[in-house]
Amino acid sequence: MVLRRKPLVAGNWKMNFNHREATYFIHKFAWLLRDSHTDYHLCDIALMPSFTSIRSVQVFVESNKLPLLYGAQAVSVTAQGAFTGDVSADMLAALGCSMVIVGHSERRKYHPEDDANIVDQVRAVLAAGMQPILCVGESFEERKQGIELDFAVGQVHDVTRDLDSQQAERLIIAYEPVWAIGTGMVATAQSAQDAAFAIREDLRNTFSDTVADKVRILYGGSVTSENASSLIQENDVDGFLIGGAALDANELAHIVNIVASNGSLNV
Ligand code: PEP
Repeated sequence: MVLRRKPLVAGNWKMNFNHREATYFIHKFAWLLRDSHTDYHLCDIALMPSFTSIRSVQVFVESNKLPLLYGAQAVSVTAQGAFTGDVSADMLAALGCSMVIVGHSERRKYHPEDDANIVDQVRAVLAAGMQPILCVGESFEERKQGIELDFAVGQVHDVTRDLDSQQAERLIIAYEPVWAIGTGMVATAQSAQDAAFAIREDLRNTFSDTVADKVRILYGGSVTSENASSLIQENDVDGFLIGGAALDANELAHIVNIVASNGSLNV
């Protein structure tokens, strides 16, 4: 029997859906999951709305007692104070968020998020009792040079060298090659597996078997219901971080059901 971590399918809505659209989406999505008899024990499902929609998602999830998770797409590194426009980890935790995306390539590109800032975000998320979804992955340039694995592992290492084992085992890592995000160019199942395996081995060497075997490593980059099945069959791919396809409730529910029906679990 192949032992698996409980997979996670997380939808990153980016800057899409106001709170009314978010409520409409989650209503339809929950109905689709119920209609298709999705077994929530077999797959964690998370939605990552804009800050302005988190409260609406929370109200819907709690009032319908849905086993759906949700979180945010970024967080401030500071706890409170004169930081206009920022949102703290404690504020997100108070809304019932259980995870926060940290270091997404779009944040690294459009905001001053360097390695030090990303470590501080990870720490802030962990301290507030949530899980960071740490995004790493090479650009097309690094892939052309054949250094994609070293690059992705290096980005993980830049964060984990400042964490202890208890913190590290609560990470979720998303391997998202930048060239695959929103482009329709998906990594092959083998290259997603190679990256996830390399990251897991680095966790094993840096920390322990316990940490390496516990951390979920997601693949992200143009995942659809067409390619999800081959990707999720890889041993070290524990689910997906999904952008474009997470804006379509039918498509997201379809991917969740593909993941839920794959393999046996070690949870
Ligand atoms: C993402 O933004 O994290 C992502 C993977 O986007 P897409 O699925 O659209 O490539």
